[in-house]
Amino acid sequence: MQFKYSNFLIIEDEGLNICIDPTRNSINNSIALVSHAHTDHFCNLSKTTYTTKETQELLISILPNPKFYFRDLEINKQIDLTKNIKLTPLDSGHILGSCMFKFDIENKSILYTSDFNSNPSLTSKSAKPVYSDILFIESTFGKKIFDFKERGSLYYTLSNDIKKDLDDGKFIVLGGYSLGKNQEIISFINQYLGVVPLVDSTTFKFSEIYNKYGKNLKYKLLDHNIYFSNILIMPLSLINKDFLNSLRLQLRKPVSSYIMTGWNFSRGSRLVHISDHSDYKSLIDFVDKVNPKIVYTMHGFSKEFARNINNELGIVAKPISEINQKSLLDFI
Ligand SMILES: [Zn+2]
Ligand SMILES: [Zn+2]
Repeated sequence: MQFKYSNFLIIEDEGLNICIDPTRNSINNSIALVSHAHTDHFCNLSKTTYTTKETQELLISILPNPKFYFRDLEINKQIDLTKNIKLTPLDSGHILGSCMFKFDIENKSILYTSDFNSNPSLTSKSAKPVYSDILFIESTFGKKIFDFKERGSLYYTLSNDIKKDLDDGKFIVLGGYSLGKNQEIISFINQYLGVVPLVDSTTFKFSEIYNKYGKNLKYKLLDHNIYFSNILIMPLSLINKDFLNSLRLQLRKPVSSYIMTGWNFSRGSRLVHISDHSDYKSLIDFVDKVNPKIVYTMHGFSKEFARNINNELGIVAKPISEINQKSLLDFI
C-alpha cells in the first residue's frame, strides 16, 4: 500500500488508485471519493465515484454534462472499499451531503477531514472527532488570527442590526457562497426575522436541493419581483459598489449590505465572520481530540498549522506536500 500526493491524496492498494477529492481525471486504474460538491474538490470524472446522494445531486446540478458513475455513500455506514480497506463516511458539518472519510486498514485508522466545521449551524450538524492513528486535516483557517465568535451570538447581533435597518426603511442585501453559506443565511432570515427573502438563481438552484433533503428553507426566486421582499440574498462575488448603487436608484431607498465569510474582505459591505470551516482554535481542539500519531495538513495555511500543531500539542505534523512514505508506514 502506498500514499501519494499530487494536488490530492491517492491511496494505492494492489494496483488500484483511490483518488480522494481528485481535481484531475488522468490517473489510470482509479476510483474517486468526493467529500462534497465545492468545485475545488472534484472534476468531471468518467469513473466510479463514491459520494453521498446529496452530493451526487449537487454535482449533477453544477455540471452541464456530468460523467460520473456514482456509488452511494451513507453517513456512518461502513463499506469494504477494497479487500484491505474499509471506508466509513462521517458528517463533516460543512455543507449539504459533505463528509469526512475514515479508513480502517489492518487495525489502523486514518481520518481525512476534507473541509469541515466542528461547530453546528442552522443548516449543518457539527463534525465530530474520532480517534485515528493518522490524520489528514484541512488548514484553511490554520493561523491564530482566525478566531470566530460563537454562531448563536453572531446570529443574535446580526438579527438586531438587520431589524434596525428595516425599521429605518432600508433594503437589505446579504451575500455568501451560493452553496452552503447562502442556505444558512436563508434559514437565519426565516427563523430570526420571520421574512421570506429573494434569492438569485444559483442560490435558488442549490436551496431547492437542500429542501429536497428536508431543510425547509423559505425563499423566492428574484425574477422582476424586487418589491416582493425587503431582503435579497446573493453570491458574495456579485455584491459590489456598482450593484448596490444601481439597487439604491431602482428602489429609491437606502440599501444596507452584509457579507458573511471567514475572510477579511468586505467589498464596501459590513463583514460578518461566519464560516463553514472551523476557525483556528476549533482546528487545534479537533486534532487534540483525534489524538493521532501523525498529522498531515492540507489546503490554506498548511505550513503554519503544522508548526502550530507541533508546538501546541507536541504531535508530529507536516504539510501534505512533505508526505513521506517511510515515516507514514512507521505508523501503519
Ligand atoms: Zn468546501
Ligand atoms: Zn474546499
